[in-house]
Amino acid sequence: TVDVGMIRFEKGRIYTYIGEVVVSVNPYRAMNIYGRDTIEQYKGRELYERPPHLFAIADAAYKAMKRRNKDTCIVISGESGAGKTEASKYIMQYIAAITNPGQRAEVERVKNMLLKSNCVLEAFGNAKTNRNDNSSRFGKYMDINFDFKGDPIGGHINNYLLEKSRVIFQQEGERSFHSFYQVCSSIDDGGDFKAVADAMKVIGFTADELQTVYKVLATILHLGNLTFGVDGDTTLIENSKVVAVIGDLLATKEENVEKALLYRTVATGRDVIDKQHTAQEASYGRDALAKAMYERMFCWIVGRINDVIEVKNYDAKVHGKNTVIGVLDIYGFEIFQNNSFEQFCINYCNEKLQQLFIQLVLRQEQEEYQREGIPWKHIDFFNNQIIVDLVELQHKGIFSVLDEACMNVGKVTDKVFLQGLNSKYSVVGFIDKNKDTLFQDFKRLLYNSSNPVLKVMWPEGKLKITEVTKRPLTAATLFKNSMIALVENLACKEPYYVRCIKPNDVKSPLLFEHERCRHQVEYLGLLENVRVRRAGFANRQEYPRFLQRYKMISEFTWPNHDLPSEKEAVKKLLQGCGFEQDVAYGKTKVFIRTPRTLFCLEEQRTEMV
Ligand code: ADP
Ligand code: MG
Repeated sequence: TVDVGMIRFEKGRIYTYIGEVVVSVNPYRAMNIYGRDTIEQYKGRELYERPPHLFAIADAAYKAMKRRNKDTCIVISGESGAGKTEASKYIMQYIAAITNPGQRAEVERVKNMLLKSNCVLEAFGNAKTNRNDNSSRFGKYMDINFDFKGDPIGGHINNYLLEKSRVIFQQEGERSFHSFYQVCSSIDDGGDFKAVADAMKVIGFTADELQTVYKVLATILHLGNLTFGVDGDTTLIENSKVVAVIGDLLATKEENVEKALLYRTVATGRDVIDKQHTAQEASYGRDALAKAMYERMFCWIVGRINDVIEVKNYDAKVHGKNTVIGVLDIYGFEIFQNNSFEQFCINYCNEKLQQLFIQLVLRQEQEEYQREGIPWKHIDFFNNQIIVDLVELQHKGIFSVLDEACMNVGKVTDKVFLQGLNSKYSVVGFIDKNKDTLFQDFKRLLYNSSNPVLKVMWPEGKLKITEVTKRPLTAATLFKNSMIALVENLACKEPYYVRCIKPNDVKSPLLFEHERCRHQVEYLGLLENVRVRRAGFANRQEYPRFLQRYKMISEFTWPNHDLPSEKEAVKKLLQGCGFEQDVAYGKTKVFIRTPRTLFCLEEQRTEMV
């Protein structure tokens, strides 16, 4: 399979099907296969009528949604740099291109917003890494809502686990989020700055909001310059001019900033005292503040985009059900030299999605055979449920063990956690990242800013010190809950899959690394996927549709047939061609076992027309 993959890659045939799953290999070069003419070729067609393409899957998801009133979703997976985000953008462009034939202004507005949102989210959520120059550092699930005519009327974005640690630390050769370089107008990013600012304006960010975004970015950059020292018992800020600048940027008094950086207000019984940080604690607080400000702002930006794109004035009683296509572009498996909390969460997410893939692919297949009355023999999969359980099970799972460790303030260290876990991960920083502590003093500082835009990002800052009692949910628990909700959401939709493969590690259009690709094919479960398809039928089509397409190749059906039903006509046609052994007749569909039969039919058809 991998050698065939290499041949296809070299010929620029980057898409391949396993049943209705599209496998895509990143070409690492501009392909002339996404233009208007290609869109026209795929619009309204069935999957097998044209060479494999992302557009065919987008169209299948769209057709199912429009014709059968089904909510559908397209799940895009693969490792970093495999082409997920590009695929998600092509899918959105395709959907935008084939909808709204009536050119309704409101629909055009919505489409424009949905497409523009990509540019904004990439500026704030993507960064250059060693694997990908434009790597998404957050997970994204976007719903597109359609009206009864099948035109987009709105959308909603869910974002998952932004890698905020990148704000304070980057590996050798990597960068922080694009947005920082854009505000600094460095040579490469200056142009993008304008594009992003324009997109934000179009989406409806006000001048004040834009200014606040720049101020937050500037604050984070200045925080990076802050250093702490000690003088006797006193912790102090070594470069206090920076504090004045930050005070300005945050529209708050310099001394408030200084106090929040150097002290923590604690309630002891009825008393409230200011406890001075050590220099180390102050540095920790500074970094936590930088990370939290960025993450908050990112979530706020997503929220603002959602305000604008959410479905408005849609009355289901008048217009019928509003249906949805969801597009999931989420980080793939990551295995680095050193793997930390982030990789743990990301890989858990992938196990969870793999579990869904197993269930849905098997379930769909089995249900279809049952519905159509076709006998079916069960195929075994490696079921990764045990891995999912190991991570998320109540009380016993790794997340629970971690949460428990985090509750024992002071006593439990990462080392103790590791002993309890005996895992092969490096657990350095797990406890800390899971607790994700941001001193309450910072929340109050930002809430009390006289910049109203900044203030709304920090609602919990209004709590007084004596009112803060509840322990915030840990990062792992929040992530687990969001993953469970995501999977539930996907599971109730009809799924379509895009499996992206990265052909090499050097971003080359010429290199197809055999072993690397084989490995991805294996862990994505594609071999099992092929086996299930092989055991069953490669293709199935409803009788009328099949007859319509192939009737000209048989004297029994061309130009007309006198058989009692379309099913009978299809039987006669296939008997006449000698394909009887390779097909089965279901209640409403004909099932074709091998692709070769389908290709023969297509060939004969081409000869006739
Ligand atoms: P992922 O989201 O999986 O990490 P991206 O979608 O960002 O990966 O793709 C990484 C890079 O690979 C892109 O910036 C682009 O240069 C190239 N690429 C991906 N898909 C395509 C494609 N279909 N055609 C041309 N280049 C592509
Ligand atoms: Mg991406």
